[in-house]
Amino acid sequence: MKKTLKDINLKNKRVIVRVDFNVPLDANLNVTDDTRIRETLPTINYLKQEGAKIILMAHLGRPKGKVEPKYSLKPAAAKLSQLLGQEVKMAPGCIDTETKKLAMSLNPGEILLLENLRFHPEEEKNDPAFANELASMAEIFVQDAFGTVHRAHSSTEGIAKYLPSCAGLLLEKEIIYFAKALEKPEKTFVAILGGAKVSDKIMVIENLLNKVDALIIGGAMAYTFLKSKGINVGNSLVEQDKLEIAAKLLKKADEKQIRLFLPIDHVISTKIDGSAESQETKGVEILENWMGVDIGKMTLDRISSVILGAKTIIWNGPMGVFEVPKFANGTMTVANLVAQATSAGAVSIIGGGDSVAAVKKAGVSDKISHISTGGGASLELLEGKILPGIAVLPEK
Ligand code: AMP
Repeated sequence: MKKTLKDINLKNKRVIVRVDFNVPLDANLNVTDDTRIRETLPTINYLKQEGAKIILMAHLGRPKGKVEPKYSLKPAAAKLSQLLGQEVKMAPGCIDTETKKLAMSLNPGEILLLENLRFHPEEEKNDPAFANELASMAEIFVQDAFGTVHRAHSSTEGIAKYLPSCAGLLLEKEIIYFAKALEKPEKTFVAILGGAKVSDKIMVIENLLNKVDALIIGGAMAYTFLKSKGINVGNSLVEQDKLEIAAKLLKKADEKQIRLFLPIDHVISTKIDGSAESQETKGVEILENWMGVDIGKMTLDRISSVILGAKTIIWNGPMGVFEVPKFANGTMTVANLVAQATSAGAVSIIGGGDSVAAVKKAGVSDKISHISTGGGASLELLEGKILPGIAVLPEK
């Protein structure tokens, strides 16, 4: 267990917190989804309550080491200020004299947000001098940006070497959910994987095959597996160079006696964007010129009892091209099944932008145990990797 905010005396201390404010903006630079900002409120409110002086730091988009006004964190400061009903001071930069002066003059409970860390090329290079400059403004470092802990950057890894450090409340929550599922899952443990590419999830599957009781595979990645079994998949998205590894993974699942569910029927079309006719297959084979765009009803029937019987569920990746409403049934149904299983006592964890969007679209987000704020970071945890931004934090 990592040290957390609750293990440290914060009173009157200048505390620098890495947060994930990488929020989507519209053309007028308004925040269109403030989930990530809201998720940091428990940590910020706790720091306020303990009388800390709060310096927040974050990145937005990919300015690639140059100052670009469209990637300024000003809209995030405005949104946070609105959510807290309190002024959030916006720093002109990250480590300049004016910014440091603002940091040093904070009173307990006041908040300063540094400008986009990635305006500095040093940030992503994990430059020690830059990390040290950031650290020089504070007395304690708190890591609360789960979405960035798989990166070793100055603000996520380097800085922890210069200050007493700990996990924030959001990071703690993320670690607890993933650790419990991956280390001590209540059985039956079911993983549901989908999305576009097998290649992105090979390591996740390898690792999960050592842990789960059942694995459900949908989305485009299912077609590489089906093809590796010699099944005709027509024009469906297949990664030819991954057929061999797909066959190996299927063999491993078999050896380990893991129940592995691939689609047994599909919604098919000739175009992926919904502009052409579509139909349902009566079996697993897909004819020439057609491609699988969603899992079919027989597949859903088969996996529904598996999902409803689960006590631990991890879901990453949609079951079909869910952006197109007529191809979204598989993904929406799975979202509802996971919510239903959770209401019946299962612990459910959802990671990855698309599955998070799907549970929101299905209107069941509040019925999921844990919706992860980090797509990339959660996939790396599922791969069994040690994440540098977590590893660097001291143990309790
Ligand atoms: P990922 O980023 O790997 O989670 O993949 C998400 C994307 O996979 C979404 O944009 C889906 O539209 C896409 N996807 C899911 N199923 C299919 C499919 N059967 N054919 C093509 N794309 C798919």
